[in-house]
Amino acid sequence: SGAESARSFEQQLLAVDDRPPLAELDAQNISAWFGDHQVLDRVSLTMPAGVITSLIGPSGCGKSTFLRILNRMHELIPSASLAGEVLLDGEDIYDPSRKLVDARKHIGMVFQKPNPFPAMSIYDNVLAGLKLTGTRADRDRRDYLVETCLTKAGLWKEVRDRLRAPGGGLSGGQQQRLCIARSLAVTPKVLLMDEPCSALDPTSTRVIEETMLELVDDVTIVIVTHNMQQAQRVSTQCAFFLAAQGQPGHIVEHGSTEAMFSSPIDSRTFDYVNGVF
Ligand code: ADP
Ligand code: MG
Repeated sequence: SGAESARSFEQQLLAVDDRPPLAELDAQNISAWFGDHQVLDRVSLTMPAGVITSLIGPSGCGKSTFLRILNRMHELIPSASLAGEVLLDGEDIYDPSRKLVDARKHIGMVFQKPNPFPAMSIYDNVLAGLKLTGTRADRDRRDYLVETCLTKAGLWKEVRDRLRAPGGGLSGGQQQRLCIARSLAVTPKVLLMDEPCSALDPTSTRVIEETMLELVDDVTIVIVTHNMQQAQRVSTQCAFFLAAQGQPGHIVEHGSTEAMFSSPIDSRTFDYVNGVF
């Protein structure tokens, strides 16, 4: 049938993709400051290849800061400093002999508020990262990337007939999937997602969750979420961040999602996952 042949074509497309091998991300003893205000204290976390890791915890405990440290965005904030190491498959992404763009092109980021370039076409939005990373692609390669990345982001069928329309004309959920497609165009090894569904309705949220669960075969995913059901639906492991009154954020407990929700070791984890604070 037509649907079947379309599906097998889709699968072929995904199968021939030149994806990089799965990578592990390892943060060791990360501390972070804004000026002399310390916001993270010796956070260590291994984010294994091919699984989704959820970072959970109350607002202000340093989850977004930690995520920005994982792709070297933190250092772009003038008052910010940090200590510790981030290893991507054993290689220090902060190695001073590495160019920022080389360190970052393997690590994509998706933010809470979908941020496609609103006036730019859907097609060009997907390819926007190529320019930033200085990646060359001829016309065939560009067409291929646009179709593959939109397919992986679960958006291809909805936009294939209007690739020249502006990205800003899509619904919120579609815009977020466009941002996911854009992050995939540079074939990242890791995808960092900071509350990617907080601004979306439940239906779009489920579509994005399904997309994540398919993507994780290709790319290591770290997600910040305040939605405990979401953490349980998508993630293999969780880390619970907390900043006690006036103290920097740290990881209270991490482990398999199953253990964190059914038998947490720390009573503060129990309270948090059960909605006590
Ligand atoms: P979370 O994502 O868990 O809500 P954040 O990482 O955003 O936490 O914030 C951690 C702490 O760092 C907070 O106290 C916040 O006010 C502070 N902070 C975050 N960004 C900045 C910044 N650009 N300048 C100064 N302080 C900041
Ligand atoms: Mg945050």
